[in-house]
Amino acid sequence: MEIPVLLYHVVKPDPDPGNDYQYRLDEFERQMAWLHENGYTTLSVDEYLDVLDGKAPAPAKPVLITFDDNTADFTEYVMPVLTRYGMKAAQFTVTDWIGNRLNMSAEDMKEIAARGIDVLNHTVSHPMLAELDKAGQREEIAEAGRALEALVGRKQDVFAYPYGNYNEVTIEVLRELGYRAAFIVSDAKSTPSTPRLELPRYCLLQRHTLDDFVRMVS
Ligand SMILES: [Zn+2]
Repeated sequence: MEIPVLLYHVVKPDPDPGNDYQYRLDEFERQMAWLHENGYTTLSVDEYLDVLDGKAPAPAKPVLITFDDNTADFTEYVMPVLTRYGMKAAQFTVTDWIGNRLNMSAEDMKEIAARGIDVLNHTVSHPMLAELDKAGQREEIAEAGRALEALVGRKQDVFAYPYGNYNEVTIEVLRELGYRAAFIVSDAKSTPSTPRLELPRYCLLQRHTLDDFVRMVS
């Protein structure tokens, strides 16, 4: 049993051609339509972990869709596509960025959470965690967790490492704070034996075509 996890950042009609982390909306729509037409089941993060842990049966063609950095395009462009297909997804949120010009507002975050998006911890300020000492790492993770629990009322026990950057101290801090899962960036699928604090995600870049996407999820 293997589950692909996808990672997107910005998705919009007119991505900056020089920024590989911005994805074209029409390509994203084609990918979601492809998942829909090919019988894939999008999971919530809890469902994904339950399947990996053997606590729930795997649905047909499971896939987990995640977004990082709580950018404002999510409400405008991504939510309508997810809603059209009844798809679940997670949004890993940098708490200091909430309300910035290019990010979702606190109201937006509550709204997407109410519509079933998993709003989860991506630190306070998006640092390179491995460059911080243990107290610094702990503050970045614990503070963001507290802020998000207060904002959307969801227990914060799932994390994504900014830049996929972490070290053994980060893992220690996550264990101490009671986190049960954390995502890295890596071209691999999750299996029951994948370490839960190093779960891989395929990062979608602007240059990736539908063929690349199909290879990631197949
Ligand atoms: Zn990020």
